[in-house]
Amino acid sequence: MKCLAAFQDEQFIEIIREVGFECDCCGKCCTSKFNDHVFLLDDDAARIKALGGDFLRPAPYFDFCDNFGRFYVMGYALKNKPCGDCIFYTDGRCEHYDIRPDICKIYPYMLHREPDEEGNVEWRQVGGLNQHGLYHNDINDETCREILRHVKKYESEFLGQKQKFLNAIKEHFKKYALRHSQQVYDRRMREYEKGNEIEIYVYFRGKFEKEILSKQIINL
Ligand code: SF4
Ligand code: SF4
Repeated sequence: MKCLAAFQDEQFIEIIREVGFECDCCGKCCTSKFNDHVFLLDDDAARIKALGGDFLRPAPYFDFCDNFGRFYVMGYALKNKPCGDCIFYTDGRCEHYDIRPDICKIYPYMLHREPDEEGNVEWRQVGGLNQHGLYHNDINDETCREILRHVKKYESEFLGQKQKFLNAIKEHFKKYALRHSQQVYDRRMREYEKGNEIEIYVYFRGKFEKEILSKQIINL
């Protein structure tokens, strides 16, 4: 969170301006060609739950597994169709564009710290650079600042949700004398790959919601 706050606004604005990205509506970011899942902040998940359909699944990849084989993850993601497309992506358009998740609104901009191929943690500012969209367009100052504001807000909320989840896990494990077990994690994932169900607790709005998952119900 401190790193994100310290990231210089002017530096990010300069990157946005230099890249000059423009979306050409190719739709790749709504498919598994680009993104294997769409992570949902709590407010995104609440909006989509309110639609009433069966659109959510626990976000991959699960963060913890207790010694009884129950998984824990920091939030929901959208389900995918069997072809890998986002569940809302139909005939080249988003069926719920008005209430699309925040990550869809800011993509491809981001301020993530991620390890590169050699394991060095570095900032990522633009996803899939040069693999989609149009470049070197003029982006005015007002638009650059608006992008900056949205991206920093999204990344702060993501880190805030993660921090709350980690605190909740700490308390939950302490209260019930549980521990994370990588051995049990790997064993249960092998069972899951073979078609067995697994139990997952998804952190949502300060509570853990129990979900039962099998390979068949990740996709519609
Ligand atoms: S929610 Fe809509 S915009 Fe976001 S990935 Fe799915 S189809 Fe695309
Ligand atoms: S953001 Fe990129 S991948 Fe997504 S529709 Fe626009 S150009 Fe295509």
